[in-house]
Amino acid sequence: MVIKSPHPDLTITPVDLFTLLFERDDRPYPEDKELFIDGDTGRSYNFTQLKNTSIEFGKGLKSQWGFRKGDILGIFSPNSVDYPPVVWGAIWAGGICSTANPTYTVKELAFQMLDSKAKGIVTQLPMLPVVLEAAKEIGMPEDRIILMGHERDPKGKFKHFSDIRSTSFLSLSSKASIEPSKDLAFLVYSSGTTGLPKGVMLTHTNIVSNILQTVAVEARSGLHWSGGPDGKGDKQLGILPFFHIYGLTAMVHCTVLEGFQVIVMPKFELERACQLIQKYGITFAYIPPPIILGLAKHPVVDKYDLTSLKWLNSGAAPLTQELQDSVWERLTIPTKQGYGLSETSPTTHLQTVLEWAKHKASVGKLVPNMEAKIVDLEGNELPVGQEGELWVKGPNVFQGYYNRPELADETFSKCGFFKTGDIGYVDDKGNFYITDRLKELIKYKGFQVAPAELEGILLGHGDIIDACVIPIFDNERSTEVPRACVVLKPGTARTEEKAKEIVDWLATKVAPHKQLRGGVCFVDEVPKNASGKILRRVLREQAKVEDRAK
Ligand code: AMP
Repeated sequence: MVIKSPHPDLTITPVDLFTLLFERDDRPYPEDKELFIDGDTGRSYNFTQLKNTSIEFGKGLKSQWGFRKGDILGIFSPNSVDYPPVVWGAIWAGGICSTANPTYTVKELAFQMLDSKAKGIVTQLPMLPVVLEAAKEIGMPEDRIILMGHERDPKGKFKHFSDIRSTSFLSLSSKASIEPSKDLAFLVYSSGTTGLPKGVMLTHTNIVSNILQTVAVEARSGLHWSGGPDGKGDKQLGILPFFHIYGLTAMVHCTVLEGFQVIVMPKFELERACQLIQKYGITFAYIPPPIILGLAKHPVVDKYDLTSLKWLNSGAAPLTQELQDSVWERLTIPTKQGYGLSETSPTTHLQTVLEWAKHKASVGKLVPNMEAKIVDLEGNELPVGQEGELWVKGPNVFQGYYNRPELADETFSKCGFFKTGDIGYVDDKGNFYITDRLKELIKYKGFQVAPAELEGILLGHGDIIDACVIPIFDNERSTEVPRACVVLKPGTARTEEKAKEIVDWLATKVAPHKQLRGGVCFVDEVPKNASGKILRRVLREQAKVEDRAK
């Protein structure tokens, strides 16, 4: 059975992202509305400043780097009010942004920048050492590294993005001409259903569609812009990472379309978040489950007045009904849910605030212009209520993985549905429930951990001859954590010290979210099928039984 979105179809005008956000005649708020405010320093951008700064940067890129349509700009930074104009400057110039997790190690950053063929990187001063090493590794000249954020290079060697200006009298003044359904706007990285991270090709139409789809559903959740620079109207907590597509679409783009205010937080700290909610009267927040957990359980929350919050929206990882209930009991704030993937720009399902209490644990209904199926392992459609893999189709679905055309068949069905690799079911009212994952991916607090990547690194450890990384659910932290099941070289003792040594060894090689917080266990062999594919499910089930017995 094909399930269609219950929402009326939207007309997706074929425009590029910059035009949608900055050149519409019917913008519902004034030019001096402050849209992004730095929660720490108070630095801000209003609409006009955002538009002008983006264009100036775009012109500067064209003039100083010869940046042209289709060129890739790497961005390696925590959240900052400068992040949006850096993105839109590159977009204005016809470029593509490849945003990277700012906690990446040199190797992880170098991998993404090399794979995406980035022409340069925008970063912040504290992360310069990592970027310099990565640039050296991939042969990127140092003058292709520029800074954003409130700190400038004291030695003046690395320019700030706001100093990248056009020095040419040539005709650099016009926005690049874009074919929205073909030209890419973002190349974000995801491991997809299997293997190493890959570039997810998102066109202007993909992103424009998802902004419109999201905004159409959220309009039913009672949000309003209002006021000018005085900041009245709805405000959101800018805590989702801007490098992740969830943060980019839900916070960076939707905000400008609608005129909401974002109070930007560079890193998450629960008490600081509570202070900002109270200080600015923040009215809504998109957050992953571990932050919901903090709001539900942490004692510090009692010190602050959070009554301005109308609702929270959880996404990026599974949320339990118990957590939704705990937040409601403690703060009387509804926690609705959304679901999506980097490959779908991201949102495919979204609850309205009117529905959350009736269908708890549901990720919501399909957003407009989308259809979906639940299928069995052979791809046969399953009826309502039966669990299977979720397949989706719509204008926000990506174009495939960058330079990996061979993956098209396993990624898309013959009838053009994207195979999400997630398992779930739909009820007779069109509410979807995500119950498990068919694919390898592990999500630590909403951040991707690709088991294949960790397994590859673990095989480089002198005492390990085989490895399989599986997710373990950590109830206390309300998140999955990776655990490595390793086969040791004959003669190596299976001790607690050895397990700890492996955890510590891996921690020096990967970003913090990929650490083996689920520990290391020793196995005699890694189960594999006849063609050598790891049977992760066997070890996952085994771990569940063992953990229950403890
Ligand atoms: P990403 O590409 O990093 O956004 O990761 C997408 C994956 O996150 C999905 O395929 C799901 O496995 C998981 N995910 C996202 N939202 C939810 C949700 N609401 N419930 C359960 N899993 C989710």
